[in-house]
Amino acid sequence: MADTAFDIIIIGSGPGGYVTAIRAAQLGFKVAVVERSFIGGICTNWGCIPTKALLRSADVYHLMTHAKEFGLSAENISYDPKAVVTRSRGVAKRLADGVGFLFKKNKIQVIWGEANIDAPGKITVKASKVEAPKGALGPGAYQAKHIIIATGARPRALPGLEGDGKLVWTYFEAMNPDKMPKSLLVIGSGAIGIEFASFYRTLGADVTVVEVLPQILPVEDAEIAAFARKQFEKQGMKIMSGAKVAKLDKKKDSVVATIDDGKGGTQTLEVDRVISAVGVVGNVEGLGLEKLGVKIERGTIVIDGYCKTNVPGIYAIGDVAGPPMLAHKAEHEGIICVEAIKGNKPHPMDKRMIPGCTYCSPQVASVGLTEAKAKELKYDIRVGRCPFLGNGKAIALGEDQGLVKVVFDKKTGQLLGAHMVGTEVTELIQGYVIAMNLETTEEELIHTIFPHPTLSEMMKEAVLDAYGRVLNI
Ligand SMILES: Cc1cc2nc3c(=O)[nH]c(=O)nc-3n(C[C@H](O)[C@H](O)[C@H](O)COP(=O)(O)OP(=O)(O)OC[C@H]3O[C@@H](n4cnc5c(N)ncnc54)[C@H](O)[C@@H]3O)c2cc1C
Repeated sequence: MADTAFDIIIIGSGPGGYVTAIRAAQLGFKVAVVERSFIGGICTNWGCIPTKALLRSADVYHLMTHAKEFGLSAENISYDPKAVVTRSRGVAKRLADGVGFLFKKNKIQVIWGEANIDAPGKITVKASKVEAPKGALGPGAYQAKHIIIATGARPRALPGLEGDGKLVWTYFEAMNPDKMPKSLLVIGSGAIGIEFASFYRTLGADVTVVEVLPQILPVEDAEIAAFARKQFEKQGMKIMSGAKVAKLDKKKDSVVATIDDGKGGTQTLEVDRVISAVGVVGNVEGLGLEKLGVKIERGTIVIDGYCKTNVPGIYAIGDVAGPPMLAHKAEHEGIICVEAIKGNKPHPMDKRMIPGCTYCSPQVASVGLTEAKAKELKYDIRVGRCPFLGNGKAIALGEDQGLVKVVFDKKTGQLLGAHMVGTEVTELIQGYVIAMNLETTEEELIHTIFPHPTLSEMMKEAVLDAYGRVLNI
């Protein structure tokens, strides 16, 4: 008979669950992961990875249509939407298969089905409609000293604006479209909404984004978000902020949206498809949490810095444990969680150190406090900026539109936050993340040598600017 007792059972195999399982196995725990639908979770199958594959196709298409600017010729550029999606699905599958391989390599048992926690230490797994992968255990009762909930999140459904799988899409359909819409309304301008808006606009759709808040990319620094907005508008995207979609009237193959423009007026807009990207909500239901008395606030599980819930033996990580709902936050929480279970002494989660990236064109990336937040927290600050306009590498790439911005504590020289918009900034931000983690000051950054010619040189110039020593602007 198959073994049903484990040291740690993790519910959910997303980036939170699977990375946690690997680290737990490395620490010597006997580990199982329960999954009900897709190994690798949202990130691998329907989130981070397939969207980046789609955006890559859009980037290549954009470059090809601008070949002349580089002295090249490319004629009759077109795209095959099916092939674009097939590539994206293939990339996701390759990564999901990779997670399956890592489970085997680390001797992590997969249990296939839907988990319910009966009591601390005990779960019941019910059958899933999705076919189980080879070697997985099936429905039944299982025990574990520690249960980690990593069940992720799903699209938020606002009444009247919820996805219907056909005309009003969530990210699932937006990633796997039945046809390329000629016109598209994106409701919500967070990372998910803006990435899809960017993808479809680059491929030629008429895209309108409606955001209820005054600023698009609402969690980003206001100056960076405004810069990104200008670029999107230059590309022909229509953006309405401080506005609200009041109603969606569905026709046979289109949708008429009534938009409250926030200035006392209303507009109607007929589009082929709508993407509802108004956020995600934690998968807290169906796990038996109410009966167990696990504390839930604003739809996510309440945890401490080591991912413990208020019920001993039950932990939560990733999207289900609250914002920011990002894959790397989920992974890091999982590592902290199992290291603490092992009795090691990990640093508790410090949310200020979590970078955020949006892979639109131009990209946006940030870490730490925005200028406004630093002021709100009463820091006396120094701000430095470096535009892409004067950077040799940016100009050579044909990507001279962007901005790097840093926020320092005037008193201590501590880097409080860094914010960027421009090509490949999602690859640059990690330099500042490391700097912040090491509590680097301006002096150390100024004494750091950056290779030339690179986009990264702007990271140093922005620091120099904050201290009145800028060289290349
Ligand atoms: C379109 C899109 C793009 C994104 N892009 C990025 C990005 O570029 N970078 C980034 O950092 N983040 C991105 N995200 C967010 C990222 O996908 C999530 O933050 C991440 O997947 C969260 O990981 P997780 O492990 O908490 O949960 P998930 O990845 O959601 O995994 C949870 C798993 O639990 C399973 N599950 C749920 N309930 C049960 C149950 N009762 N029993 C068994 N199994 C269960 C689910 O089937 C799922 O597989 C994106 C999200 C979307 C939707």
